[in-house]
Amino acid sequence: MGNYYLPKGMRPSTLEERKQFYSSEFSLDMVKKWFSGWRGKIVFAVIIGRHTRIFPPEYEEDASTTILIDNYVDLKDVKGWILEFLPESVYYDRSVYDEQGRAIGQEMAFDLDPENLTCPIHGSLEDKMRRHEGLSFCEVELEIVKNETIKLYEELSKRFSNLRVVYSGRGFHIHVLDEEAFGWSAEKRGELAKEMKNKGFMIDEWVTSGSMRLIRLPYSLHGMVSRIVTPIDISELDHFNPIEDERCIPSFLKHKSLLRG
Ligand SMILES: [Zn+2]
Repeated sequence: MGNYYLPKGMRPSTLEERKQFYSSEFSLDMVKKWFSGWRGKIVFAVIIGRHTRIFPPEYEEDASTTILIDNYVDLKDVKGWILEFLPESVYYDRSVYDEQGRAIGQEMAFDLDPENLTCPIHGSLEDKMRRHEGLSFCEVELEIVKNETIKLYEELSKRFSNLRVVYSGRGFHIHVLDEEAFGWSAEKRGELAKEMKNKGFMIDEWVTSGSMRLIRLPYSLHGMVSRIVTPIDISELDHFNPIEDERCIPSFLKHKSLLRG
């Protein structure tokens, strides 16, 4: 991945580590709980090795492809596919579909990550790209994104009552679970995204508007940084530190630090 820096302790997961995580640590119960209010079939998706270039050799041609998992019986079956692909990232489609596969609504979400801010040390995304460090980020950036997330949560609380914050690996997501918001048109979502952007929030507008429907699956492994995508209660967010928080560190990293003593 060329010149590349990440917060202390974060690094890409190997295929063996992905396998270890998804076979023994990935919690289908927690995933099921996350979708407890969901109507209709959930579409999942994986990307095997687009950014890490780490992929099972038989999937080299599809390493960068977004592969949809929509033909499955149950969550155990989904886990089976994940173990087959050993992907760097797992997502779900926020659109809600009817029996005929027509989108009838969408879960609204806000995506905050280091790509949208200027780091006092490393500069903007453009600066990083020029140095071929486009995907890099640092601890300062993580802290800025976290504080932005807290502010955006406060702002969104004025309109919505059922919000969830998820640590996404590189940043944070805010999911809007208010029933009413699922029925919003793409235009209405886009307007809200623009409004928040204009207020200075560093969000990816296309995630909120819905042009980008996929969002990282809670409790999955972010294979670029070796962290578990973890819902965090807003009351804990201020003190949350993904560099050392046990909840988001996969056991393959905990084991290693133990060995190093
Ligand atoms: Zn930085």
